[in-house]
Amino acid sequence: MRNSEVALVFYEIADLLELQGLPFKPQAYRRAASAIEQMDVDIEQMVDEGRHRDIPGVGVAIAKKIEELVRTGELDYLKKLRVETPPGLVEMLSIPDVGPRTAMLLHRELGIASVDELKEAALNHRLRGLRGFGEKTEERILQGIGVLESRGGRMLLGEALPIAEAYVEHLRSRLSIEAISVCGSLRRGRETIGDIDILVGSGDSEDVTSAFVDYPAVENVLLSGSTKSSVEIQGGLQVDLRVVELESYGAALQYFTGSKEHNVRVRRLGVEMGLKVNEYGVFERSSNRRVAGDSEHGVYESLGLTFIPPELREDSGEIDASRSLELPELVDASDVRGDLHVHSDWSDGSDPIEAIVAAAARLQYSFIAITDHTESLTIANGLTPERLGKQVDAIRRVQEIHGDGIQVLAGTEVDIKVDGSLDLPSSVLKDLDIVIGSVHSRMKMDSKEMTERVTNAMESGLVDIIGHPTGRIIGRRDPVKLDIQRIFDVARETDVAMEINAFPDRLDLRAVHCRLAKEHGVTFAIGTDSHSIRHLDYLRLGIITARRGWLSKDRVLNAMSSDELKRRLRGRRP
Ligand SMILES: [Zn+2]
Ligand SMILES: [Zn+2]
Repeated sequence: MRNSEVALVFYEIADLLELQGLPFKPQAYRRAASAIEQMDVDIEQMVDEGRHRDIPGVGVAIAKKIEELVRTGELDYLKKLRVETPPGLVEMLSIPDVGPRTAMLLHRELGIASVDELKEAALNHRLRGLRGFGEKTEERILQGIGVLESRGGRMLLGEALPIAEAYVEHLRSRLSIEAISVCGSLRRGRETIGDIDILVGSGDSEDVTSAFVDYPAVENVLLSGSTKSSVEIQGGLQVDLRVVELESYGAALQYFTGSKEHNVRVRRLGVEMGLKVNEYGVFERSSNRRVAGDSEHGVYESLGLTFIPPELREDSGEIDASRSLELPELVDASDVRGDLHVHSDWSDGSDPIEAIVAAAARLQYSFIAITDHTESLTIANGLTPERLGKQVDAIRRVQEIHGDGIQVLAGTEVDIKVDGSLDLPSSVLKDLDIVIGSVHSRMKMDSKEMTERVTNAMESGLVDIIGHPTGRIIGRRDPVKLDIQRIFDVARETDVAMEINAFPDRLDLRAVHCRLAKEHGVTFAIGTDSHSIRHLDYLRLGIITARRGWLSKDRVLNAMSSDELKRRLRGRRP
Protein backbone atom coordinates (compact mmCIF):
# COMPACT_ATOMS: atom_id res chain seq x y z
CA MET A 1 0.00 0.00 0.00
CA ARG A 2 1.17 3.46 -0.78
CA ASN A 3 1.32 6.26 1.77
CA SER A 4 -1.45 8.14 0.02
CA GLU A 5 -3.77 5.14 0.25
CA VAL A 6 -3.19 4.71 3.97
CA ALA A 7 -3.77 8.44 4.41
CA LEU A 8 -7.06 8.22 2.50
CA VAL A 9 -8.31 5.49 4.81
CA PHE A 10 -7.52 7.61 7.86
CA TYR A 11 -9.20 10.68 6.36
CA GLU A 12 -12.29 8.58 5.81
CA ILE A 13 -12.18 7.33 9.40
CA ALA A 14 -11.94 10.94 10.58
CA ASP A 15 -14.99 11.90 8.52
CA LEU A 16 -17.00 8.95 9.80
CA LEU A 17 -16.07 9.67 13.42
CA GLU A 18 -17.06 13.28 12.99
CA LEU A 19 -20.40 12.20 11.51
CA GLN A 20 -20.92 10.22 14.70
CA GLY A 21 -20.38 13.42 16.66
CA LEU A 22 -17.26 12.26 18.48
CA PRO A 23 -14.91 14.95 19.81
CA PHE A 24 -11.09 14.98 19.46
CA LYS A 25 -10.68 11.57 17.81
CA PRO A 26 -11.33 12.80 14.28
CA GLN A 27 -8.54 15.34 14.66
CA ALA A 28 -6.10 12.65 15.76
CA TYR A 29 -6.80 10.56 12.64
CA ARG A 30 -6.53 13.60 10.41
CA ARG A 31 -3.14 14.54 11.92
CA ALA A 32 -1.84 11.02 11.39
CA ALA A 33 -3.18 10.94 7.82
CA SER A 34 -1.49 14.20 6.99
CA ALA A 35 1.83 13.08 8.51
CA ILE A 36 1.80 9.79 6.57
CA GLU A 37 0.86 11.57 3.36
CA GLN A 38 3.81 13.94 3.62
CA MET A 39 6.52 11.44 4.56
CA ASP A 40 9.25 10.62 2.04
CA VAL A 41 9.66 7.12 3.41
CA ASP A 42 7.53 4.25 2.19
CA ILE A 43 4.97 3.31 4.86
CA GLU A 44 5.39 -0.41 4.16
CA GLN A 45 9.09 -0.14 4.81
CA MET A 46 8.46 1.74 8.06
CA VAL A 47 6.10 -0.98 9.27
CA ASP A 48 8.68 -3.63 8.39
CA GLU A 49 11.24 -1.79 10.50
CA GLY A 50 8.77 -0.97 13.28
CA ARG A 51 9.40 2.75 12.79
CA HIS A 52 5.77 3.67 12.10
CA ARG A 53 5.26 4.12 15.84
CA ASP A 54 7.58 7.10 15.73
CA ILE A 55 5.50 9.05 13.22
CA PRO A 56 4.39 12.29 14.89
CA GLY A 57 0.76 12.06 15.98
CA VAL A 58 0.67 8.25 15.81
CA GLY A 59 -0.18 6.64 19.13
CA VAL A 60 -0.50 2.98 20.01
CA ALA A 61 -4.05 2.57 18.64
CA ILE A 62 -3.33 4.20 15.29
CA ALA A 63 0.00 2.35 14.94
CA LYS A 64 -1.86 -0.97 15.24
CA LYS A 65 -4.28 0.11 12.55
CA ILE A 66 -1.44 1.07 10.23
CA GLU A 67 0.03 -2.42 10.67
CA GLU A 68 -3.27 -4.15 9.96
CA LEU A 69 -3.86 -2.01 6.91
CA VAL A 70 -0.42 -2.45 5.39
CA ARG A 71 -0.29 -6.18 6.07
CA THR A 72 -3.84 -7.13 4.99
CA GLY A 73 -4.95 -4.25 2.77
CA GLU A 74 -8.07 -3.99 4.91
CA LEU A 75 -9.15 -2.54 8.24
CA ASP A 76 -11.89 -3.97 10.45
CA TYR A 77 -12.36 -0.70 12.29
CA LEU A 78 -13.20 1.10 9.05
CA LYS A 79 -15.68 -1.60 8.07
CA LYS A 80 -17.38 -1.27 11.46
CA LEU A 81 -17.61 2.51 11.17
CA ARG A 82 -19.04 2.24 7.68
CA VAL A 83 -21.78 -0.07 8.92
CA GLU A 84 -22.64 2.22 11.84
CA THR A 85 -23.01 5.42 9.84
CA PRO A 86 -26.10 6.08 7.72
CA PRO A 87 -24.89 5.59 4.12
CA GLY A 88 -26.86 8.65 3.00
CA LEU A 89 -24.73 10.86 5.24
CA VAL A 90 -21.53 9.41 3.84
CA GLU A 91 -22.86 10.03 0.34
CA MET A 92 -23.58 13.65 1.29
CA LEU A 93 -19.87 14.10 1.94
CA SER A 94 -19.18 13.66 -1.78
CA ILE A 95 -21.03 16.92 -2.49
CA PRO A 96 -18.40 19.61 -2.95
CA ASP A 97 -18.63 22.04 0.01
CA VAL A 98 -20.41 19.62 2.33
CA GLY A 99 -18.08 18.42 5.07
CA PRO A 100 -18.88 16.18 8.05
CA ARG A 101 -19.77 19.08 10.27
CA THR A 102 -22.33 20.44 7.81
CA ALA A 103 -23.74 16.97 7.18
CA MET A 104 -24.09 16.35 10.92
CA LEU A 105 -25.78 19.70 11.47
CA LEU A 106 -28.26 19.02 8.65
CA HIS A 107 -28.97 15.58 10.06
CA ARG A 108 -29.44 16.81 13.65
CA GLU A 109 -31.47 19.92 12.92
CA LEU A 110 -33.54 18.90 9.89
CA GLY A 111 -33.37 15.12 9.92
CA ILE A 112 -31.75 15.07 6.48
CA ALA A 113 -30.09 11.72 5.80
CA SER A 114 -29.54 11.55 2.05
CA VAL A 115 -28.52 13.62 -0.97
CA ASP A 116 -32.10 13.52 -2.29
CA GLU A 117 -33.52 14.85 0.97
CA LEU A 118 -30.91 17.57 1.02
CA LYS A 119 -31.77 18.60 -2.52
CA GLU A 120 -35.45 18.83 -1.71
CA ALA A 121 -34.79 20.87 1.45
CA ALA A 122 -32.55 23.28 -0.46
CA LEU A 123 -35.10 23.67 -3.27
CA ASN A 124 -37.78 24.48 -0.68
CA HIS A 125 -35.47 26.98 1.02
CA ARG A 126 -35.54 25.08 4.27
CA LEU A 127 -31.79 25.42 4.82
CA ARG A 128 -31.63 29.17 5.12
CA GLY A 129 -33.27 29.10 8.57
CA LEU A 130 -30.24 27.26 9.99
CA ARG A 131 -27.50 29.12 11.76
CA GLY A 132 -24.71 30.01 9.35
CA PHE A 133 -26.84 29.13 6.29
CA GLY A 134 -28.07 31.71 3.80
CA GLU A 135 -29.37 31.95 0.28
CA LYS A 136 -25.82 31.63 -1.06
CA THR A 137 -25.15 28.42 0.88
CA GLU A 138 -28.33 26.90 -0.49
CA GLU A 139 -27.32 27.76 -4.03
CA ARG A 140 -23.82 26.37 -3.50
CA ILE A 141 -25.21 23.11 -2.16
CA LEU A 142 -27.60 22.78 -5.11
CA GLN A 143 -24.74 23.44 -7.51
CA GLY A 144 -22.66 20.80 -5.75
CA ILE A 145 -25.49 18.28 -6.05
CA GLY A 146 -25.68 19.13 -9.76
CA VAL A 147 -22.00 18.25 -10.13
CA LEU A 148 -22.53 15.00 -8.28
CA GLU A 149 -25.51 14.07 -10.47
CA SER A 150 -23.70 14.77 -13.74
CA ARG A 151 -20.84 12.56 -12.60
CA GLY A 152 -23.29 9.82 -11.69
CA GLY A 153 -24.54 9.77 -15.28
CA ARG A 154 -23.65 6.97 -17.61
CA MET A 155 -20.82 7.26 -20.09
CA LEU A 156 -20.95 6.56 -23.81
CA LEU A 157 -19.46 3.28 -24.99
CA GLY A 158 -17.17 5.21 -27.33
CA GLU A 159 -15.78 7.26 -24.44
CA ALA A 160 -15.36 4.37 -22.03
CA LEU A 161 -13.72 1.88 -24.42
CA PRO A 162 -10.44 3.78 -24.96
CA ILE A 163 -10.21 4.58 -21.24
CA ALA A 164 -10.62 0.91 -20.35
CA GLU A 165 -8.15 -0.22 -23.00
CA ALA A 166 -5.51 2.22 -21.81
CA TYR A 167 -5.98 0.89 -18.27
CA VAL A 168 -5.61 -2.72 -19.44
CA GLU A 169 -2.52 -1.71 -21.42
CA HIS A 170 -1.03 -0.16 -18.27
CA LEU A 171 -1.55 -3.41 -16.34
CA ARG A 172 -0.05 -5.46 -19.17
CA SER A 173 3.00 -3.22 -19.31
CA ARG A 174 3.59 -3.53 -15.56
CA LEU A 175 3.05 -7.26 -15.14
CA SER A 176 3.32 -10.41 -17.14
CA ILE A 177 -0.38 -11.14 -17.17
CA GLU A 178 -1.68 -14.23 -18.90
CA ALA A 179 -5.36 -13.50 -18.64
CA ILE A 180 -6.95 -10.07 -18.59
CA SER A 181 -10.16 -8.64 -19.99
CA VAL A 182 -12.70 -5.92 -19.51
CA CYS A 183 -16.05 -7.40 -18.57
CA GLY A 184 -19.49 -6.11 -17.62
CA SER A 185 -21.65 -4.00 -19.92
CA LEU A 186 -18.55 -2.64 -21.65
CA ARG A 187 -17.62 -6.09 -22.93
CA ARG A 188 -21.19 -6.64 -24.05
CA GLY A 189 -20.95 -3.38 -25.97
CA ARG A 190 -23.90 -1.59 -24.41
CA GLU A 191 -24.31 1.90 -25.79
CA THR A 192 -23.80 3.51 -22.39
CA ILE A 193 -22.01 2.12 -19.36
CA GLY A 194 -21.98 2.94 -15.65
CA ASP A 195 -18.49 1.82 -14.67
CA ILE A 196 -15.53 -0.15 -16.01
CA ASP A 197 -14.84 -3.70 -14.83
CA ILE A 198 -11.49 -5.36 -15.36
CA LEU A 199 -10.81 -9.02 -14.61
CA VAL A 200 -7.36 -10.53 -14.19
CA GLY A 201 -6.44 -14.17 -13.78
CA SER A 202 -3.27 -14.39 -11.70
CA GLY A 203 -1.77 -16.22 -8.76
CA ASP A 204 -0.18 -13.01 -7.55
CA SER A 205 -3.02 -10.71 -6.64
CA GLU A 206 -0.85 -8.36 -4.60
CA ASP A 207 1.24 -7.30 -7.58
CA VAL A 208 -1.85 -6.88 -9.71
CA THR A 209 -3.57 -4.76 -7.08
CA SER A 210 -0.62 -2.47 -6.55
CA ALA A 211 -0.20 -1.94 -10.30
CA PHE A 212 -3.93 -1.25 -10.49
CA VAL A 213 -4.00 1.51 -7.87
CA ASP A 214 -0.69 2.89 -9.10
CA TYR A 215 -2.08 4.36 -12.32
CA PRO A 216 -1.64 8.05 -13.08
CA ALA A 217 -5.33 8.71 -13.78
CA VAL A 218 -6.42 7.40 -10.37
CA GLU A 219 -7.81 10.16 -8.18
CA ASN A 220 -9.30 8.16 -5.40
CA VAL A 221 -8.74 4.63 -4.14
CA LEU A 222 -12.13 3.47 -2.90
CA LEU A 223 -11.15 -0.04 -2.00
CA SER A 224 -7.93 -1.98 -2.18
CA GLY A 225 -8.25 -5.62 -1.21
CA SER A 226 -6.67 -8.87 -2.28
CA THR A 227 -9.35 -9.95 -4.76
CA LYS A 228 -11.36 -6.79 -5.32
CA SER A 229 -10.28 -3.19 -5.73
CA SER A 230 -12.05 -0.04 -6.82
CA VAL A 231 -10.76 3.33 -7.87
CA GLU A 232 -12.22 6.54 -9.14
CA ILE A 233 -10.35 8.04 -12.05
CA GLN A 234 -10.35 11.51 -13.55
CA GLY A 235 -13.87 12.52 -14.50
CA GLY A 236 -15.39 10.55 -11.63
CA LEU A 237 -15.59 7.23 -13.47
CA GLN A 238 -15.31 4.14 -11.26
CA VAL A 239 -13.07 1.26 -12.29
CA ASP A 240 -13.36 -2.09 -10.51
CA LEU A 241 -10.73 -4.80 -10.56
CA ARG A 242 -11.22 -8.47 -9.75
CA VAL A 243 -8.32 -10.85 -9.43
CA VAL A 244 -9.03 -14.58 -9.60
CA GLU A 245 -6.97 -17.75 -9.84
CA LEU A 246 -6.30 -18.88 -13.40
CA GLU A 247 -8.37 -22.05 -13.00
CA SER A 248 -11.43 -19.83 -12.34
CA TYR A 249 -10.70 -17.20 -14.95
CA GLY A 250 -13.18 -18.43 -17.59
CA ALA A 251 -15.98 -18.83 -15.08
CA ALA A 252 -15.30 -15.41 -13.59
CA LEU A 253 -15.16 -13.82 -17.04
CA GLN A 254 -18.51 -15.38 -17.88
CA TYR A 255 -19.99 -14.37 -14.54
CA PHE A 256 -18.77 -10.76 -14.50
CA THR A 257 -19.61 -10.12 -18.15
CA GLY A 258 -23.32 -10.64 -17.43
CA SER A 259 -25.92 -9.64 -18.16
CA LYS A 260 -27.60 -10.60 -14.92
CA GLU A 261 -30.59 -11.91 -16.86
CA HIS A 262 -28.37 -14.01 -19.10
CA ASN A 263 -26.58 -15.46 -16.10
CA VAL A 264 -29.83 -16.36 -14.34
CA ARG A 265 -30.70 -18.47 -17.41
CA VAL A 266 -27.24 -20.00 -17.51
CA ARG A 267 -27.45 -21.02 -13.84
CA ARG A 268 -30.97 -22.38 -14.28
CA LEU A 269 -29.81 -24.47 -17.22
CA GLY A 270 -27.02 -25.75 -14.97
CA VAL A 271 -29.50 -26.78 -12.28
CA GLU A 272 -31.50 -28.76 -14.85
CA MET A 273 -28.32 -30.61 -15.74
CA GLY A 274 -27.26 -31.25 -12.15
CA LEU A 275 -24.52 -28.63 -12.34
CA LYS A 276 -23.66 -25.66 -10.16
CA VAL A 277 -22.43 -22.62 -12.10
CA ASN A 278 -20.79 -19.74 -10.29
CA GLU A 279 -17.86 -17.34 -10.62
CA TYR A 280 -15.37 -20.05 -9.59
CA GLY A 281 -16.33 -22.71 -12.05
CA VAL A 282 -18.90 -25.29 -13.10
CA PHE A 283 -19.31 -28.14 -10.61
CA GLU A 284 -21.27 -31.37 -10.44
CA ARG A 285 -23.86 -30.91 -7.72
CA SER A 286 -23.63 -34.50 -6.47
CA SER A 287 -19.85 -34.74 -6.12
CA ASN A 288 -18.76 -31.08 -6.21
CA ARG A 289 -16.31 -32.14 -8.93
CA ARG A 290 -15.13 -29.28 -11.12
CA VAL A 291 -16.05 -29.83 -14.77
CA ALA A 292 -15.15 -26.40 -16.25
CA GLY A 293 -13.96 -22.94 -15.31
CA ASP A 294 -10.57 -22.07 -16.74
CA SER A 295 -12.00 -20.99 -20.10
CA GLU A 296 -15.23 -19.25 -20.96
CA HIS A 297 -15.74 -21.58 -23.93
CA GLY A 298 -15.50 -24.50 -21.52
CA VAL A 299 -18.23 -23.05 -19.30
CA TYR A 300 -20.69 -22.88 -22.19
CA GLU A 301 -19.60 -26.25 -23.52
CA SER A 302 -20.20 -27.93 -20.17
CA LEU A 303 -23.81 -26.73 -20.41
CA GLY A 304 -24.27 -28.16 -23.89
CA LEU A 305 -24.03 -24.75 -25.53
CA THR A 306 -21.86 -23.27 -28.25
CA PHE A 307 -19.91 -20.17 -27.26
CA ILE A 308 -22.20 -17.15 -26.96
CA PRO A 309 -20.47 -13.89 -27.97
CA PRO A 310 -20.68 -11.28 -25.17
CA GLU A 311 -22.66 -8.87 -27.36
CA LEU A 312 -25.56 -11.33 -27.42
CA ARG A 313 -25.78 -12.03 -23.68
CA GLU A 314 -28.93 -10.04 -22.98
CA ASP A 315 -31.41 -12.88 -22.46
CA SER A 316 -33.08 -12.28 -25.79
CA GLY A 317 -33.13 -15.80 -27.14
CA GLU A 318 -29.38 -16.39 -27.35
CA ILE A 319 -29.34 -19.46 -25.11
CA ASP A 320 -32.01 -21.32 -27.07
CA ALA A 321 -30.33 -20.32 -30.33
CA SER A 322 -27.00 -21.55 -29.04
CA ARG A 323 -28.46 -24.87 -27.91
CA SER A 324 -30.07 -25.48 -31.30
CA LEU A 325 -26.93 -24.36 -33.16
CA GLU A 326 -28.78 -21.38 -34.64
CA LEU A 327 -26.58 -18.53 -33.48
CA PRO A 328 -25.50 -16.43 -36.47
CA GLU A 329 -21.82 -16.10 -37.24
CA LEU A 330 -21.49 -12.44 -36.30
CA VAL A 331 -19.80 -9.89 -38.50
CA ASP A 332 -16.29 -9.24 -37.20
CA ALA A 333 -13.81 -6.37 -37.37
CA SER A 334 -11.70 -8.44 -39.75
CA ASP A 335 -14.65 -8.68 -42.18
CA VAL A 336 -15.13 -4.94 -42.48
CA ARG A 337 -13.11 -3.33 -45.26
CA GLY A 338 -14.03 0.33 -45.22
CA ASP A 339 -16.10 3.27 -44.05
CA LEU A 340 -19.20 4.48 -45.90
CA HIS A 341 -19.88 7.89 -44.31
CA VAL A 342 -17.13 10.52 -43.97
CA HIS A 343 -17.15 14.33 -44.11
CA SER A 344 -14.24 16.39 -45.40
CA ASP A 345 -13.35 20.07 -45.11
CA TRP A 346 -15.48 20.66 -48.20
CA SER A 347 -18.47 20.80 -45.80
CA ASP A 348 -18.22 20.70 -41.99
CA GLY A 349 -15.39 18.18 -41.61
CA SER A 350 -11.97 19.39 -40.51
CA ASP A 351 -9.62 17.43 -42.79
CA PRO A 352 -8.87 17.59 -46.51
CA ILE A 353 -9.69 14.60 -48.71
CA GLU A 354 -5.99 13.69 -49.14
CA ALA A 355 -5.53 13.37 -45.37
CA ILE A 356 -8.66 11.24 -45.02
CA VAL A 357 -7.55 8.88 -47.79
CA ALA A 358 -4.05 8.62 -46.31
CA ALA A 359 -5.55 7.77 -42.90
CA ALA A 360 -7.85 5.16 -44.48
CA ALA A 361 -4.86 3.63 -46.25
CA ARG A 362 -3.02 3.39 -42.94
CA LEU A 363 -6.04 1.52 -41.58
CA GLN A 364 -5.71 -0.81 -44.59
CA TYR A 365 -9.21 -0.09 -45.83
CA SER A 366 -10.21 -1.24 -49.30
CA PHE A 367 -12.61 1.69 -49.74
CA ILE A 368 -13.77 4.91 -48.17
CA ALA A 369 -16.76 7.06 -49.12
CA ILE A 370 -16.52 10.86 -49.00
CA THR A 371 -20.08 11.99 -48.26
CA ASP A 372 -20.36 15.71 -47.55
CA HIS A 373 -23.54 17.65 -46.82
CA THR A 374 -25.70 19.36 -49.42
CA GLU A 375 -26.79 22.95 -49.89
CA SER A 376 -29.88 23.15 -47.66
CA LEU A 377 -27.75 22.30 -44.63
CA THR A 378 -26.23 25.79 -44.63
CA ILE A 379 -24.82 25.59 -41.10
CA ALA A 380 -22.70 22.66 -42.27
CA ASN A 381 -21.44 24.53 -45.34
CA GLY A 382 -23.35 22.13 -47.56
CA LEU A 383 -22.26 21.74 -51.19
CA THR A 384 -24.12 23.21 -54.19
CA PRO A 385 -24.29 21.04 -57.32
CA GLU A 386 -21.45 23.13 -58.77
CA ARG A 387 -19.15 22.66 -55.77
CA LEU A 388 -20.03 18.97 -55.62
CA GLY A 389 -18.95 18.68 -59.27
CA LYS A 390 -15.61 20.20 -58.36
CA GLN A 391 -15.30 17.92 -55.34
CA VAL A 392 -15.87 14.85 -57.51
CA ASP A 393 -12.99 16.01 -59.75
CA ALA A 394 -10.82 16.53 -56.67
CA ILE A 395 -11.67 13.04 -55.41
CA ARG A 396 -10.74 11.51 -58.78
CA ARG A 397 -7.39 13.32 -58.63
CA VAL A 398 -6.69 12.05 -55.11
CA GLN A 399 -7.63 8.58 -56.31
CA GLU A 400 -5.08 8.81 -59.10
CA ILE A 401 -2.25 10.14 -56.99
CA HIS A 402 -2.74 8.47 -53.59
CA GLY A 403 -5.34 5.82 -54.20
CA ASP A 404 -3.12 2.79 -54.47
CA GLY A 405 -5.08 -0.14 -53.11
CA ILE A 406 -7.94 1.97 -51.84
CA GLN A 407 -11.12 2.86 -53.67
CA VAL A 408 -12.26 6.42 -52.91
CA LEU A 409 -16.00 6.65 -53.49
CA ALA A 410 -17.32 10.07 -54.49
CA GLY A 411 -20.60 10.49 -52.67
CA THR A 412 -22.90 12.78 -50.77
CA GLU A 413 -25.07 12.87 -47.69
CA VAL A 414 -28.01 14.45 -49.42
CA ASP A 415 -30.66 16.14 -47.34
CA ILE A 416 -34.10 14.56 -47.47
CA LYS A 417 -36.34 17.60 -47.62
CA VAL A 418 -39.65 17.91 -45.79
CA ASP A 419 -41.67 16.48 -48.70
CA GLY A 420 -39.27 13.59 -49.20
CA SER A 421 -37.58 15.09 -52.26
CA LEU A 422 -33.79 15.26 -52.34
CA ASP A 423 -31.57 18.32 -52.09
CA LEU A 424 -29.72 17.55 -55.36
CA PRO A 425 -31.11 17.02 -58.87
CA SER A 426 -31.23 13.43 -60.11
CA SER A 427 -28.84 14.36 -62.95
CA VAL A 428 -26.18 15.00 -60.29
CA LEU A 429 -27.06 12.11 -57.96
CA LYS A 430 -27.00 9.40 -60.62
CA ASP A 431 -23.38 10.15 -61.48
CA LEU A 432 -22.12 9.76 -57.92
CA ASP A 433 -20.60 6.51 -56.63
CA ILE A 434 -22.68 6.46 -53.45
CA VAL A 435 -25.62 8.40 -52.02
CA ILE A 436 -26.71 8.59 -48.39
CA GLY A 437 -30.08 10.23 -47.79
CA SER A 438 -30.55 11.80 -44.35
CA VAL A 439 -33.15 13.79 -42.45
CA HIS A 440 -31.63 16.82 -40.71
CA SER A 441 -34.57 19.23 -40.32
CA ARG A 442 -38.16 19.28 -39.02
CA MET A 443 -37.44 16.29 -36.82
CA LYS A 444 -40.73 16.65 -34.93
CA MET A 445 -43.12 15.57 -37.71
CA ASP A 446 -45.76 13.02 -36.82
CA SER A 447 -45.09 9.40 -37.62
CA LYS A 448 -47.21 9.24 -40.78
CA GLU A 449 -45.56 12.31 -42.36
CA MET A 450 -42.04 11.28 -41.37
CA THR A 451 -42.52 7.72 -42.63
CA GLU A 452 -43.75 9.08 -45.97
CA ARG A 453 -40.86 11.50 -46.16
CA VAL A 454 -38.30 8.73 -45.76
CA THR A 455 -40.07 6.16 -47.96
CA ASN A 456 -40.37 8.79 -50.72
CA ALA A 457 -36.61 9.18 -50.64
CA MET A 458 -36.08 5.41 -50.76
CA GLU A 459 -38.49 5.04 -53.68
CA SER A 460 -36.67 7.72 -55.71
CA GLY A 461 -34.18 5.08 -56.82
CA LEU A 462 -31.40 7.61 -56.21
CA VAL A 463 -30.50 6.78 -52.61
CA ASP A 464 -28.29 3.82 -51.62
CA ILE A 465 -28.40 4.24 -47.86
CA ILE A 466 -30.65 5.98 -45.31
CA GLY A 467 -28.32 7.79 -42.90
CA HIS A 468 -28.90 7.71 -39.10
CA PRO A 469 -32.47 6.47 -39.71
CA THR A 470 -34.06 7.45 -36.38
CA GLY A 471 -32.09 10.64 -35.75
CA ARG A 472 -31.70 10.01 -32.05
CA ILE A 473 -28.76 11.42 -30.12
CA ILE A 474 -28.06 9.50 -26.94
CA GLY A 475 -28.98 11.51 -23.86
CA ARG A 476 -29.89 14.58 -25.90
CA ARG A 477 -32.46 13.99 -28.62
CA ASP A 478 -35.26 11.47 -28.89
CA PRO A 479 -35.62 9.44 -32.08
CA VAL A 480 -37.98 10.81 -34.74
CA LYS A 481 -41.42 9.21 -34.90
CA LEU A 482 -41.42 6.55 -37.61
CA ASP A 483 -43.38 3.49 -38.59
CA ILE A 484 -40.16 1.52 -38.39
CA GLN A 485 -41.64 -1.75 -39.71
CA ARG A 486 -42.88 0.04 -42.81
CA ILE A 487 -39.49 1.69 -43.30
CA PHE A 488 -37.81 -1.72 -43.18
CA ASP A 489 -40.32 -3.23 -45.59
CA VAL A 490 -39.76 -0.45 -48.11
CA ALA A 491 -36.01 -0.73 -47.58
CA ARG A 492 -36.16 -4.37 -48.59
CA GLU A 493 -38.44 -3.70 -51.58
CA THR A 494 -36.26 -0.85 -52.86
CA ASP A 495 -33.00 -2.53 -51.82
CA VAL A 496 -31.91 0.56 -49.88
CA ALA A 497 -29.48 -0.14 -47.03
CA MET A 498 -30.08 1.09 -43.50
CA GLU A 499 -27.12 2.85 -41.96
CA ILE A 500 -25.59 1.88 -38.66
CA ASN A 501 -24.20 5.30 -37.85
CA ALA A 502 -21.21 4.61 -35.61
CA PHE A 503 -20.71 8.08 -34.15
CA PRO A 504 -20.54 7.51 -30.35
CA ASP A 505 -23.64 9.50 -29.40
CA ARG A 506 -25.71 8.23 -32.34
CA LEU A 507 -25.35 4.43 -32.77
CA ASP A 508 -28.35 4.62 -35.09
CA LEU A 509 -29.82 2.16 -36.07
CA ARG A 510 -29.53 0.81 -32.58
CA ALA A 511 -29.04 -2.90 -31.95
CA VAL A 512 -32.68 -3.90 -31.42
CA HIS A 513 -33.64 -2.18 -34.66
CA CYS A 514 -30.81 -3.93 -36.51
CA ARG A 515 -32.20 -7.26 -35.39
CA LEU A 516 -35.73 -6.30 -36.42
CA ALA A 517 -34.54 -4.96 -39.78
CA LYS A 518 -32.63 -8.17 -40.38
CA GLU A 519 -35.84 -10.13 -39.90
CA HIS A 520 -37.38 -7.89 -42.57
CA GLY A 521 -34.57 -8.83 -44.97
CA VAL A 522 -32.78 -5.48 -44.91
CA THR A 523 -29.07 -4.86 -45.65
CA PHE A 524 -26.85 -2.51 -43.65
CA ALA A 525 -24.09 0.05 -44.18
CA ILE A 526 -21.78 1.03 -41.34
CA GLY A 527 -20.59 4.64 -41.43
CA THR A 528 -18.65 6.61 -38.85
CA ASP A 529 -20.02 10.01 -39.88
CA SER A 530 -16.45 11.17 -39.23
CA HIS A 531 -15.87 14.90 -39.20
CA SER A 532 -12.15 14.41 -38.54
CA ILE A 533 -9.73 11.59 -39.21
CA ARG A 534 -9.64 11.00 -35.45
CA HIS A 535 -13.24 9.78 -35.76
CA LEU A 536 -12.42 6.98 -38.20
CA ASP A 537 -11.82 4.65 -35.23
CA TYR A 538 -15.52 4.81 -34.39
CA LEU A 539 -16.06 2.17 -37.07
CA ARG A 540 -15.70 -0.50 -34.42
CA LEU A 541 -18.62 0.97 -32.46
CA GLY A 542 -20.71 0.34 -35.55
CA ILE A 543 -19.40 -3.21 -35.75
CA ILE A 544 -20.24 -3.80 -32.08
CA THR A 545 -23.75 -2.47 -32.71
CA ALA A 546 -24.14 -4.75 -35.71
CA ARG A 547 -23.04 -7.71 -33.59
CA ARG A 548 -25.50 -6.77 -30.85
CA GLY A 549 -28.09 -6.74 -33.63
CA TRP A 550 -27.25 -10.39 -34.52
CA LEU A 551 -25.92 -9.42 -37.96
CA SER A 552 -23.67 -11.63 -40.02
CA LYS A 553 -21.30 -10.29 -42.65
CA ASP A 554 -23.49 -11.21 -45.63
CA ARG A 555 -25.88 -8.44 -44.51
CA VAL A 556 -23.27 -5.72 -44.27
CA LEU A 557 -22.11 -3.74 -47.33
CA ASN A 558 -18.82 -2.90 -45.61
CA ALA A 559 -17.83 -6.56 -45.72
CA MET A 560 -17.89 -6.63 -49.53
CA SER A 561 -14.74 -6.26 -51.60
CA SER A 562 -14.46 -2.85 -53.25
CA ASP A 563 -15.28 -4.39 -56.64
CA GLU A 564 -18.40 -6.12 -55.35
CA LEU A 565 -19.45 -2.94 -53.60
CA LYS A 566 -18.98 -0.77 -56.70
CA ARG A 567 -20.85 -3.29 -58.84
CA ARG A 568 -23.73 -3.31 -56.42
CA LEU A 569 -23.89 0.47 -56.18
CA ARG A 570 -23.60 1.00 -59.93
CA GLY A 571 -26.21 -1.64 -60.58
CA ARG A 572 -28.70 0.46 -58.65
CA ARG A 573 -28.22 3.60 -60.77
CA PRO A 574 -31.11 4.47 -63.12
ZN1 LIG B 1 -26.21 13.46 -41.06
ZN1 LIG C 1 -22.99 12.88 -41.81
